[in-house]
Amino acid sequence: MPQTSLNLRRIDLRGRSAHGEAIDYGSVVPRAEFAIEAAVEAVRPIVEDVAERGLPALEKFSEEFDHVVPQHFRVPAAELARTAYELDNDLRGAFNESIRRRREVCVVERGEPESMIELAPGARVSQRLIPVDRVGLYVPGGRAPLASSVIMNVVPAQVAGVGSIAVASPPQAEFGGLPHPSILAVCHLLGVTEVYAVGGSQAIAMFGYGVDGLCEPVNVITGPGNSYVVAAKRLLKGRVSIDAEAGPTEIAVLADHTANPRFVAADLISQAEHDPTAASVLITPDEALADAVTAELQQQLPATKHTDRILTALNGQQSGVVLVDDLDQGIAVANGYAAEHLEIQTEDAAAIASRIRNAGAIFLGPWAPVSLGDYSAGSTHVLPTGGCACHSAGLTVRSFVKAVHVIDYTESALAEIAGQIENFANAEDLPSHGAAVTVRFQDDR
Ligand code: NAD
Repeated sequence: MPQTSLNLRRIDLRGRSAHGEAIDYGSVVPRAEFAIEAAVEAVRPIVEDVAERGLPALEKFSEEFDHVVPQHFRVPAAELARTAYELDNDLRGAFNESIRRRREVCVVERGEPESMIELAPGARVSQRLIPVDRVGLYVPGGRAPLASSVIMNVVPAQVAGVGSIAVASPPQAEFGGLPHPSILAVCHLLGVTEVYAVGGSQAIAMFGYGVDGLCEPVNVITGPGNSYVVAAKRLLKGRVSIDAEAGPTEIAVLADHTANPRFVAADLISQAEHDPTAASVLITPDEALADAVTAELQQQLPATKHTDRILTALNGQQSGVVLVDDLDQGIAVANGYAAEHLEIQTEDAAAIASRIRNAGAIFLGPWAPVSLGDYSAGSTHVLPTGGCACHSAGLTVRSFVKAVHVIDYTESALAEIAGQIENFANAEDLPSHGAAVTVRFQDDR
C-alpha cells in the first residue's frame, strides 16, 4: 500500500528515570520488523544451490530476482572501458575527488606494515600486516546504483595491497544485463578488471564457493547490501572472513535547541531514501525541536523523488523521535542504540561525541551531514548496522589484512624465561610443552 502521510512515532522517556524506572537503553528504539534472521532462512537455499550447481543457479536467480539473465556474467573489458569513456566530466571529477580523499585516509588506516618490540635483550616480537590474497567486493544495485560503494570497497583493498580483487553488482535489465554504467565506470577508473553482473545472495555465494569456469573463491567478502546480502554473508562467515554486517542504513541524530530543524529533517530523509527498512531516529530533550523537525519533514517530503520509500521508512517501527530528559540521557540512548551513522547537532558537539562509545561513524555539527560521509568525506561509508556498532567497526584497510606475529628469541632470551614456561606448562598439566623448552638446555645425549 503506498504511504500517503507521515506518521513518525514518538517514544517519550522523559521523567521515567526520575520515577525510579530502570530503562534498557539497548531496546528503546526497535529495529525493522524484517530481521536478518528471517532473511538467513530465505537465502539458505539460494546459497546452497549456487554452491552445488554454479552457473545454472546464477542464471535461475538472476532471472527470478533481477529479471534478466546477463549474456556475460563476467563483464567484458570493453564494456568497462566504454562506460568510463562515456562518463560525464563533472561526475568523473566527483568520483576522482572521492577516490583521492578516501585513499588519503586509507594510508593513515594502514599504518606501519611492520612493527617490532624488544621485551628483553634478544627477545623480539614483531607484527606484520599481511594482505589477504583475494577479495570479493559487493556493490549494491537493487534500488540505487551505489557507485560510491565501489570506491568504499576497492580503495581500502588496494591500499592494503590485496593482489586479486573481484567486484559484483546486480545485472540491470535496462542496461542489457550489465551492472549500472556508473558502477562499471568507477571500476575502470580504479583499474579493477574482474567485475561480475551478479547480485544479492547469489553473488555472495559465488564469491564464497567459487563458480566453475567463472569465478575463483575469495578469502574475504565485504560490502554493504540489503538484508539478503547481509544474511548470505552471515552464512558464509567462517568459510571466508566478512566485514561487519552493513545492512539497511540507519541514522540517529542527537540534537538540542541549537540544531537547525531544516538540516535535521533533510538528513533523516536522506537515509530513509535508501530503503523502506532504513531507520531514521531523532533523539532530543527539546520537544519544540521535535515538533519543528516533524513540520520540516512534512514540508520537505512532497518534493522528494522517492516519497513512498521514504514514508515507508519514516513510518516504520524502526524510525521515530525519542524525547529524553537531557543530553546525558540522550547519550545513553545513542550508546544503547549503536547507530550506523550518528549525527551530533548540539552545543559543543565534540564534547558530546567524546562520550559516545557505540556508533559506526560520528558526524559533528551542522556541516558534517551523513551524505558527506556517503560520498566524499574521505571516511568509509560501509558501516555496521543493526546494533553491530557495539562490537564492530566499518570497512577499512584493516578489513583486508591479517596481523601476523613473528617471534624471534635468542638462546639466552629463551633461557631467561624457560623456568617460567615450565611452571606454566605444569600448571596446565601439559608437561611436554615445558619439555620442548627445557630440552634445549640439557646436555646432548
Ligand atoms: P542490493 O544490491 O543489496 O540487493 C539487490 C539484490 O537483492 C538483488 O540482486 C536480488 O538478488 C536480491 N533480492 C531481492 N529480493 C530478494 C528476495 N526476495 N530473496 C532473495 N534475494 C532477493 O540492493 P538494494 O536492495 O538496493 O539494497 C542496498 C542496501 O544497502 C540498502 O538497504 C542500503 O541501506 C544498504 N547500504 C548499507 C550501507 C552500510 O554501510 N550499512 C552502505 C550503503 C548501502
